[in-house]
Amino acid sequence: MSGTVVMKFGGTSVADSARIKRAAARIVSRREEGARVVVVLSARGKETDRLIAAALEVSDQPDPREMDMLLSTGERVSCALCAMAINDLGHRAISLTGSQAGIVTDTSHTKARILDVRADRIRAGLEEDRIVLVAGFQGVSTTKDVTTLGRGGSDTTAVALAAAVGADVCEIYTDVAGVFSADPRIVPDARKLDLVSFDEMLEMSASGAGVLQLRSVEYARNHGVRIHCRSSFQDASGTIVVPPEEIVEQPLITAVTHSTGEARVTLKGVPDTPGIAGRVTTALAVANVNIDMIIQNEPVSGGRLADMSFTIPKDEVAEARGALASIRDEFDIEILTDDGMGKVSIVGAGMKSHPGVAAKVFTTLGDQGINIEMISTSPIRISCVVPVDRVPDAVRALHAAFELSGPDTIRPEQPFGEFA
Ligand code: ADP
Ligand code: ASP
Ligand code: MG
Repeated sequence: MSGTVVMKFGGTSVADSARIKRAAARIVSRREEGARVVVVLSARGKETDRLIAAALEVSDQPDPREMDMLLSTGERVSCALCAMAINDLGHRAISLTGSQAGIVTDTSHTKARILDVRADRIRAGLEEDRIVLVAGFQGVSTTKDVTTLGRGGSDTTAVALAAAVGADVCEIYTDVAGVFSADPRIVPDARKLDLVSFDEMLEMSASGAGVLQLRSVEYARNHGVRIHCRSSFQDASGTIVVPPEEIVEQPLITAVTHSTGEARVTLKGVPDTPGIAGRVTTALAVANVNIDMIIQNEPVSGGRLADMSFTIPKDEVAEARGALASIRDEFDIEILTDDGMGKVSIVGAGMKSHPGVAAKVFTTLGDQGINIEMISTSPIRISCVVPVDRVPDAVRALHAAFELSGPDTIRPEQPFGEFA
């Protein structure tokens, strides 16, 4: 369907009535330019956080199916309200839940994956000259339950719909002007990237740049969707995610990313026999716990017991403990957890052909007196686990050391301009 655009607005961009009306006006003006418009909205402001807190007030470990019933309501509210505002501007809008929009997922509650998009109803709405609004972050499972797609999942809804309707572009409207060389909230003079390659964006999202959910970038790469990440408050163009061959001048380092939600799990006294690492990681995979870095220390001479440490998202510690309980009891292993961990990473396709980048990262952190607890690398990324309270210092130091600031810098005194 040519001339179709998907516009996704994040939580801050629809936080209150005035912002919903402003988003509605922007959607309508896109329609009046001639495009057929599919809109994906997030829950308003901090609504998802409020719903999670409400669940934890009534239950220590809320049932994941019921959690999805609860969390999916936030985006429905945004869509219905925005449809009303669009109708008042003289256009015809229809809001749909993820299920009504034909988004079919697996059964993994609270972090479901999209399996299929049956977009007939969206297409029919567009044919009837309607603006179609779809509640982000949700779908319906193969067993007909409501599911959600994990935090930040509306980005993935938007990309999946863009692929399904063959949209020219998937526009992600957010509260910053695009993808920056570091989180502009931590590095005020971070540089906006006009273009970023899929490979780099995947590494950035995977290492904490929440501006685009990791799965949305994977989906866009696999389905050839053009993502344009831009400000919902300004009209200027933002960042376009492109295949690597479209990057003409590849800098050494593109961005510094960080995450503050890491936990380290240490298994003490693991038998040093073949197969144990496989059993531990399989148990975690079955419980859908995402392991990041793994280190195994060889037993000291003569001993037969090793230590194994790995990092996971800190909100998955309880699940990890549960998943490992039987292995712990079988081998009398001690499980220690520390959820005061953070991670800083540098990402850049240019580092592939340049030695010495790792040395500069470690020296820079060392000069700041920041202790590196764990390290992992890919051909275009170097990540260090550091104490969570040192993360901002580490990000700023690395951003300065690799001279990533630039002319498109956001000034701290005027962080996020308003869209007229
Ligand atoms: P939305 O509600 O629109 O989906 P998010 O909060 O999910 O917005 O993502 C936007 C936020 O991502 C920004 O406010 C910014 O603080 C954060 N962020 C982290 N890293 C980056 C980066 N490299 N570039 C831009 N924003 C980033
Ligand atoms: N509302 C969900 C969240 O806060 C999904 C999203 O905004 O993308 O994570
Ligand atoms: Mg988001």
